[in-house]
Amino acid sequence: MSLSIGFIGLGNMGGPMAANLVKAGHQVKVFDLNQSVVNDLASNGALAATDAKHCATDIDVLISMLPASKHVKSLYLGDTGLIHVLAKNTLVIDCSTIDAASAREVGAELGEQGIAFVDAPVSGGVAGATAGTLTFIVGGDDAHFSQAQHVLADMGKNIFHAGAIGAGQIAKICNNMLLSILMAGTSEAIQMGINNGLDAKVLSDIMTASSGRNWTLELYNPCPGVMETAPASNNYKPGFMVDLMAKDLGLAMEAAQQSNSATPMGSMAKNLYTMLQHQGAGSDDFSAIFKLFSKE
Ligand code: NAD
Repeated sequence: MSLSIGFIGLGNMGGPMAANLVKAGHQVKVFDLNQSVVNDLASNGALAATDAKHCATDIDVLISMLPASKHVKSLYLGDTGLIHVLAKNTLVIDCSTIDAASAREVGAELGEQGIAFVDAPVSGGVAGATAGTLTFIVGGDDAHFSQAQHVLADMGKNIFHAGAIGAGQIAKICNNMLLSILMAGTSEAIQMGINNGLDAKVLSDIMTASSGRNWTLELYNPCPGVMETAPASNNYKPGFMVDLMAKDLGLAMEAAQQSNSATPMGSMAKNLYTMLQHQGAGSDDFSAIFKLFSKE
């Protein structure tokens, strides 16, 4: 079914996601503070909105894909927020990675005005956004989830319902906290092997076939030269930036504090990624943590 969709935030992720909605036959109205990305989408079949309010009117669904919580809250809430222009029954899908408390706050305020809201952060990176194979992790009530599922299916492959509003964000940061721990641990183990005279590729093959096997070893080896397709073999070009991993770990630490959860490994990973940022590696791929363990 073709829908009228507004899309705000056309960056590395939002741009290709909106392009996939156009390809799927929806009428897509787009807005970003950066006019050149709006023009790109408009030359590929989208309608260019003049501002966020224009983008949010006469639509069935509004999708946002913004950097962080403060951008999402200021887009929707407050005196100048879209809460004042969105029609009742519009479905708002926020795909940004933000803290769960902010997602719940935006969802509750929109809900009071009869506007439906789900949080739907993604996994899969720019490659997944471009190929239309993203994983969406959705928080919201059952009816809104099934409404959102139809739209998200045109941009992704796996669509999970994690629970109520905010649950998508919690599941996403649990995953990314684990991923950062696995990446740090894998880097530490490979460097120790190298320091003891082993070949990194041989050691990686052994661990991939043994009980240390994990996603970073199998698909994203952090040691340059072991895996041709991994960012490590391309001078740590992202990929998934250190800055974004550090941001997600900050969100994970907030969630841990709010729920009184013990996360010693996550906390260590957060510190390691902060050190990497201080070394000027913020825009490298997150597998660059391998360099922290190098003796050279
Ligand atoms: P990005 O910085 O490339 O894009 C953000 C876009 O939002 C920019 O084009 C910016 O101009 C626009 N923007 C900011 N404030 C705006 C406003 N008020 N109105 C309109 N436009 C506004 O970021 P990205 O890499 O596309 O990431 C977006 C979100 O997705 C982040 O929350 C990130 O954590 C998450 N994410 C990113 C990746 C990745 O690999 N890049 C993977 C998974 C999740």
